[in-house]
Amino acid sequence: MKERLVTAQKALENHGIRTRIVATAAEAKQLILEEIQPGQKVGVGGSRTIDSLGVVPELEAKGCKIYWHWLAETPDQVMELRRGQLTSDVFLASSNAVTEDGRLVNIDGVGNRVAAMVFGPPKVILVCGQNKLVPDLEAALDRIHNVAAPENARRLNTGTPCGVTGRCNDCDSPGRMCAVTVIIERCPSKTDLEVILVKENLGY
Ligand code: SF4
Repeated sequence: MKERLVTAQKALENHGIRTRIVATAAEAKQLILEEIQPGQKVGVGGSRTIDSLGVVPELEAKGCKIYWHWLAETPDQVMELRRGQLTSDVFLASSNAVTEDGRLVNIDGVGNRVAAMVFGPPKVILVCGQNKLVPDLEAALDRIHNVAAPENARRLNTGTPCGVTGRCNDCDSPGRMCAVTVIIERCPSKTDLEVILVKENLGY
């Protein structure tokens, strides 16, 4: 796994995406806390990975303003926080899959997460556990549809077929999570995009 992570790191760096490898989620959290300054506006995408780091309460304690719709109490707040992510100083999220040839593959139902990854916040940090690593784009899409989506479907109770069968059937369900696919092939030109690869399994 270590060699595969280094291969992905080199490929991402060749594509203009600064990439670091750390051993633990705790180290990833520490890097985030070092990079984000007190008072900055921090957007957080819907991400089990970022949630699992436990970094958000510490950013709040530093005086950062957090835009994370998972903290919303009303539907109006959900939308307000999603929009706030697009104009944050720093955006935190994960990718659904990282290819060994240097691509970041993401599928979203609403689109706020993938939008903020590529334009809006001047700085974006994506934390990706080793379980997100795949050989290529085909494997990435397979992983997202047949591993990540079924897990999320069960967690969010979306009512989509993948939550029952564990496999994608390209559904037309109202709860479909796969509305937008964004493949980051090179660093977006107006975004300081950084990836932290973690030698632990994180998120789905
Ligand atoms: S298209 Fe539908 S069935 Fe397939 S992974 Fe997405 S939500 Fe699940």
